[in-house]
Amino acid sequence: MNTLSDTPRRIVVVGNGIAGLTACDTLRAEGFDGSITIIGDEPVAPYSRPALSKALLRDGDDLTSHLLPEATHGATERRGMAAVGVDVARQCVRLADGDAVPYDALVIATGTRARRLVRGHRSDPGEEYTVRTLADALALRARLASRPSVVVVGGGPLGMEIASGAVAAGCATTLVSQGMPLASQLGAWLAARLHHAALAQGLAIMTTGCAEVVTRDGSSVVTLGDGTVIEAEVIVSAIGDVPNVEWLTTSGLLTGGALVVDTRGLVRPNIAAAGDVAAFPHAGRVARVPLWTSAIDQAKVAAAALLRPDAPELAFQQYFWTEAFGVSLKAIGPTPVAGEPEIAEGTAEQGVFRWRHSNGPWTAVALDYRIPIPKLRRLTTLGA
Ligand SMILES: Cc1cc2nc3c(=O)[nH]c(=O)nc-3n(C[C@H](O)[C@H](O)[C@H](O)COP(=O)(O)OP(=O)(O)OC[C@H]3O[C@@H](n4cnc5c(N)ncnc54)[C@H](O)[C@@H]3O)c2cc1C
Repeated sequence: MNTLSDTPRRIVVVGNGIAGLTACDTLRAEGFDGSITIIGDEPVAPYSRPALSKALLRDGDDLTSHLLPEATHGATERRGMAAVGVDVARQCVRLADGDAVPYDALVIATGTRARRLVRGHRSDPGEEYTVRTLADALALRARLASRPSVVVVGGGPLGMEIASGAVAAGCATTLVSQGMPLASQLGAWLAARLHHAALAQGLAIMTTGCAEVVTRDGSSVVTLGDGTVIEAEVIVSAIGDVPNVEWLTTSGLLTGGALVVDTRGLVRPNIAAAGDVAAFPHAGRVARVPLWTSAIDQAKVAAAALLRPDAPELAFQQYFWTEAFGVSLKAIGPTPVAGEPEIAEGTAEQGVFRWRHSNGPWTAVALDYRIPIPKLRRLTTLGA
């Protein structure tokens, strides 16, 4: 157990997203009664990021789908304030306003930002929209209301969800994807289900090895690898994310530019990291898993590890969901999945499907089918 002298009394959390929020809640649940300061560069309270590309783009005037319950952790919140550095030797976080916040223990939960096609343009919505923050989503939503033509670059879950929102808003929409949308993330069988639904709702899909945004005659267009030019009034990119680690560049905490944690979320005995920003060991490799429940699970483990050496290691099982073009999918276990599944419940159209991976684990997927998550989880262990 920690001795009285090494028990932290001041914990600073940088990043006020779901990982930062969960870390604060976990510290309190573990009995920590010292001071917590949470620093976040967004001006708003933490919210559901997954809702931004789903209900928030599609719902009517009731913009509440992204709201989370009000925080009860009692931390001092510094919203709209970026951390610009950390001095590990002096144990303090430097803020953009010149302030320095001392800590005994630190949680790094700064997440990621959208990767952009147009480099150097941080936020020129006339050029390229992305959806990472609430402000991004509200800006795109407002633009879609006038039914512009839209091209979405990126055939992953985010691109498909944004394209679905654009089609639902009545926009003529083209999706540019490297191969069949979602195939590399989910596998061909599952991807085909969403692909058919998208085509049936009028989405145009173009496949390419690479896409670029270039300026032609004063306006931006998307060009594909084969020279095809796609003109649209709105260009949205959904091409992945970039970890927010620049503020740590001189901290000595990065390994090859990445923030790598151990199986308990620790970078140092008194410094933890969690969520999209952190690469952690699982399934024989060290990688980021930028998913909502992954951020929550990591933050719980990491916060506990700062308080007690007997805190458990992360027992990670991937959980992922998406909703697009009227199809709802929940997947527990590794993806992509290969080949045909077995039907565990329901029918071939709406049910729960299972795949066994050649290296052992199962993946269970509910498609347009209501099933409690614990039951879906059990299907990844039963009947192996
Ligand atoms: C549109 C969208 C839809 C998604 N849908 C799904 C889904 O359906 N299912 C799923 O599992 N996952 C989904 N995800 C991923 C999921 O939202 C993330 O995995 C999760 O939000 C990560 O949480 P986080 O707290 O680690 O990072 P973030 O949510 O990125 O929070 C980090 C916070 O830290 C702030 N910050 C960054 N740098 C600094 C700094 N220097 N100082 C202070 N603050 C800083 C950021 O602005 C941000 O507020 C989606 C993501 C997006 C963008």
